[in-house]
Amino acid sequence: MKTSALGRIALVCGVAALAGGIVPATAHADDAPVKKKILPVLVEFSDSTFQHPDQVKASTPDTYFGTKTDSVASFFKEMSRGKFAYVPAVKGQMAGPVTLPLTAAGCNHGKINTLTQEALAKQGLVRGEDYDSLSMVFPAQKTGCAWAGLATVPGPYSWINLYGTASGLGVVGHELGHNQGFGHQGRAMCTDGDLVNCKDDGTSAKSIMGGGGPAAGFSAPELIRAGWLFGSEAVKVAKSGTYNLRSLHGEGSGTRALDIPMGEDRLVVEYRHAAGTVDGRIEGVHAYRVPKDAYGSSSLIDLTEENETAGNSAPADADAVTALTDKASKVSLKVLSSGAGKASVKVALNGESLAAEVSDDSTKKAVNPEHTASDTDAGDGASAAPVPAAGSGTEAQSGDAAPAAAGDSADLAATGAGPGTLPLVAGGVALVVVGGVIVLGRRRKRA
Ligand SMILES: [Zn+2]
Repeated sequence: MKTSALGRIALVCGVAALAGGIVPATAHADDAPVKKKILPVLVEFSDSTFQHPDQVKASTPDTYFGTKTDSVASFFKEMSRGKFAYVPAVKGQMAGPVTLPLTAAGCNHGKINTLTQEALAKQGLVRGEDYDSLSMVFPAQKTGCAWAGLATVPGPYSWINLYGTASGLGVVGHELGHNQGFGHQGRAMCTDGDLVNCKDDGTSAKSIMGGGGPAAGFSAPELIRAGWLFGSEAVKVAKSGTYNLRSLHGEGSGTRALDIPMGEDRLVVEYRHAAGTVDGRIEGVHAYRVPKDAYGSSSLIDLTEENETAGNSAPADADAVTALTDKASKVSLKVLSSGAGKASVKVALNGESLAAEVSDDSTKKAVNPEHTASDTDAGDGASAAPVPAAGSGTEAQSGDAAPAAAGDSADLAATGAGPGTLPLVAGGVALVVVGGVIVLGRRRKRA
C-alpha cells in the first residue's frame, strides 16, 4: 500500500501505522486541560445512506460527548486525569449528514476526507478554525472497507465505517488514541526472564491500543507519549534504588511510572489496579519496552505464556512481572511488593546487584518516600470498576475480532505489506504503514 498520496499521514486499523517517537511538548500540571475541538460528521454516499439515520443522529453526540462514562470525552478526561479534553466544535455537537458526490464502493478514505471537508466548508466550517479534529462516520454497507475504524497517527482525522447504529467508545476511543500518536501495542514474550531473547507475539491487552478495549484504558508509555504524566508522576530513573508506585489510573498524587534507560531503548514500568472505569481485570506491575524514544510504539514485556485478554479468563495478574533482567543493558528489576493499590519496585542499573540494599527497610528507604504507605487510594477500589463483558453491547473491543483461542495473531491479519513489525524510527514523525490489523468491526457476529 502506498502512502505517498497521503504525504506524512499514516493510516491505521485497516493498516497499522506506527509513529516515530516525538514526545510532544507538554503543559504543566496546573494548567487548564488541553482542549481539542472535535467534529463528528455523518457522511453519506451518492448510493448509500444510513439505514437508521435517526438512531445514528441520536447516538453520535452520545458516543463522542455523552455524560456517561462510556463516551469518548469522558474516557479521555479520565485517562488524562483532566489534562486533556475533547470538546464539541459546534453547538449541535456534530455535523451532517452530508451527502458526498461519491459512491461508497472502493473505501476511498482520502476522497471521503477531501469531499467531506469541502461540504463542511460550504456550511462555513473550516478545519483549524472551527474544528481541530474531524471524525467521519459513514454507513459501512457498501464501502468494502476492511476496517471499522481508521485514523492518522498522529493527526486530526478518523474514519468510522459504521455497522449498525452507534460507533461506540471501543472503536472511536481506539482511533482517537491513534490521533494521539499511539500505534498498536504488541506483546514481546521473553519467557526466559531475560529481555535479550524475546519474540513478538500478539497484543498486550493492557491498552485500548493493544486489544484490551476501553476497559483497559491506556498504558504508561502511552500516557507519557501524550504528556499526561507530569514531573514525578513518571520518574526518569537515573540510579539504582527502590521506587514506589501508585496505580496508573488511580486518584491521588505520586509516582505512576518508572522510565528506565535500557541501552538505546527505555523500559517503562507501571502498576495497574482497578481504578475508575478501567483496569478491573488488570492487576500488578507491568513492564514495556519503548524502542528508542518512541513511547507510542511500546510493547508489553511478558515473561509468561499465559496472556490475559478480553476474551479469556486468565487471572488479572497473568502478565505481571515479578522480576526481569536485560543482560544486554545490565538493567534488572524486582517487585518487592504489589497489591491493594500500590507497589514497590527495586531497580538495579549498570549491572549492580538487586540483592544490595534489599535487606534494608525498602519502604522507608524508598526514593519517593512521600508517595508511599500513607497515601490513600481513593478511587482504586476494585469493586467500583465495571467490567464490560467481552463481545457484548456496543463497545467493540479489539480482541473481539477473533476468539482468543485462535491466538492474537488472528487479530493482526495483514492487509498491507508484510507482517506488522515495528519500524524503529528515531526522532521524527516518519510514519510507516505496515500490515497489522486489529479488527474492530466484527463484534456483532459474536454472541
Ligand atoms: Zn488501530
